[in-house]
Amino acid sequence: MPLEQVQRVAGAAEAETADHVAATLIARARAAQAGWGALEVGERVRVLAGLPGVLLGNIDRIAAAIVAENGKPRAEALAHEVVPAIAVARHHLDVAVRTLGPSRITSPTAPYRSAVRTHRPYGAVVAIAPWNLPFLIPFSQVLPALIAGNSVVLKPSELTPRVAELLVELITDCGLPEGVLRLAAGDGSLGAALVRARPDKVLFTGSVATGQRVMAAAARFPIPVGLELGGVDAAVVLADADLEFTTSAVAWGATFNGGQACCSIERVLVHADLFEAFRARLEDKLRRVDTRVDLAPAIDDRQREIWRQHVRAARECGLEVRGGDELPGRKITPALISGDAVTASTVWLEETFGPVVAIAPFDTDEQAVALHNDTEYGLTASVFSADVDRARALAGRLHAGSVAVNDVAATMYSTPEYPWGGVGRSGFGRSHGVDALLDAAWVQVIDAPRGPAFGPKRPWWYPYAPELEDAMRALAAAIAEPRLGTRLRGYGRAGHQLLTMLSRTPKL
Ligand code: NAD
Repeated sequence: MPLEQVQRVAGAAEAETADHVAATLIARARAAQAGWGALEVGERVRVLAGLPGVLLGNIDRIAAAIVAENGKPRAEALAHEVVPAIAVARHHLDVAVRTLGPSRITSPTAPYRSAVRTHRPYGAVVAIAPWNLPFLIPFSQVLPALIAGNSVVLKPSELTPRVAELLVELITDCGLPEGVLRLAAGDGSLGAALVRARPDKVLFTGSVATGQRVMAAAARFPIPVGLELGGVDAAVVLADADLEFTTSAVAWGATFNGGQACCSIERVLVHADLFEAFRARLEDKLRRVDTRVDLAPAIDDRQREIWRQHVRAARECGLEVRGGDELPGRKITPALISGDAVTASTVWLEETFGPVVAIAPFDTDEQAVALHNDTEYGLTASVFSADVDRARALAGRLHAGSVAVNDVAATMYSTPEYPWGGVGRSGFGRSHGVDALLDAAWVQVIDAPRGPAFGPKRPWWYPYAPELEDAMRALAAAIAEPRLGTRLRGYGRAGHQLLTMLSRTPKL
C-alpha cells in the first residue's frame, strides 16, 4: 500500500479505519510470509547478500534523508546510523546460518532418541519504531526478523516516515519477495491497531508509557513482544579517572543527537575527590559545544517543551543550572545541573531526552552503586577509571543491560556483535548480536528414534509395574551423581532395570 494512502487512512484517526488498514496489512504480510519462511535460512541470506553493498551505494542518500527529516548533523547520521546499519547487515548475514540453522541435541537419559533444535519464524511481525535513530533502529528491528523468515510490517514514527520508506525500498531492492516487508506509515493509532490486528510478534522501541500500552494490548492474545524502552543512563566516574578524557566523553555522551538517545548520559556520579574539578571542566566543555553545527535540535515543540520543563523544575527546586538557555531553531545550550537535592529531582529521576545532564558526588564504590541502581530503569551505563579491572568489577554490579568501561555506552549500539537491551523499565529482549536473530524466531525441537522406527513399548507406559518405582529411583541417583564415570554406569544399570521390567510386564 503506498505511503500516502496509508497516511490518509490512518490520519482519519478513526479506530475502525485504522483497524481495517491494520488487518489488511497483517493478512497480506501473513500471506507473503508463507513462501519466505519456507526457505532455508541460507537461502534467505543469499537473497539479502547484496544488502551491505546496497547501503554503501546509497550512503549519501540515506544520510540526506535522515538529516532532512530528523534534523541531526550529517556526521551523526553517517556515524550513528548508516555505518552501523552496514555493520549490522554484515554481522547478521555472516552469522545467521550458524545461529539459526538446525543443531543436534543429545541426552544421556534418551540415548535411543535423536533430537534436532530448529528456529522457526513467528510469522507476521510488527516493528514499531521511534524517530531518534530513524534509520538504524527500524533497520535493526526489521533485518533479523526477515533473516529469521518472518514478514514484517514496519510502523515508523509519524515524524520520520520518509526515512523508513527509503529503508523499505533499499531492502526490497535486494530481491526480497513482494510484500514480505511492508511500510505502515501513520501515527500511534495505527501502531495500536496493528497490535490489535494480532500479528505473531511485536518489536517495539519507544517510550516506557507506549511500551506498556503495547504490552497490555499484546497480552490479550497473548503474543510475544520485545520492548526497547527509555532510560536515565549514568556515567560513574571514579577518583582516578582521567579528567580530560572523561569530561570529553561525558560532554559528547550527554548531548549527541541533541541528547535524544535512549542511551544518552543523563546522570553523572563523580567521586567527591574529583567532583569540583570535574564539574568545572564539564561545564566548560558543554559551553564550548558548537550548538549551531554540532548540536541537533529538538525533533518537535513537544520534545523541546519537556527540556524546558525539566530545566525549569530544576531551577524551582533551587538546583544550580548552568546553560539550558533558549536558542533559535528548537535548541537550548547544553545544561549541567547540580546541587544538594539533585538526586531527588526530575532530571535525575525521569528521562529528559535532551542536552541536559545532572551531576552528583559520591564517596565510596558502595554509594556509587546504590545511587546508580536507585532507579527503575536499566538501559546502559559507563564507568571511568584508570584501573580497568576495578571498573569492570564495578560495572558488573550496575543494573544496566550494557556497560562501557572508559567509553560512552552509546557506542556499543554501533557494535553489531553486542546484544543491546535493558532491564526493568528499560524493557527486555535484545537487538543486535546473535540475540537479535534468536529473538526473531521460536525454538522447535524435533525428537525421533535413533535406531528402529518403533522399538519396544516404553517401560513407563501402562500398566505401571511395581518395579518402575525402583527403576526411577536408580535413574534419579544416576542423574544426581557428580562423577561422570559413575553416572554413566548408573544410567546403564537403570536402563537395564527398565528393560528387565519390560520383559516381565507386557505393556498395553
Ligand atoms: P513513543 O513511545 O512516543 O513512540 C514510539 C512509536 O510508537 C512511534 O512509532 C509511535 O507512533 C508509536 N505509538 C504511539 N502510541 C502507540 C500505541 N498506543 N500503540 C502502538 N504504537 C504506538 O516514543 P518516541 O518519542 O518516538 O521515542 C522516544 C523514546 O524511545 C524515548 O523514551 C527513548 O528512550 C526510547 N528509545 C529507546 C531505545 C532503546 O533501544 N531502548 C532506542 C531509541 C529510543
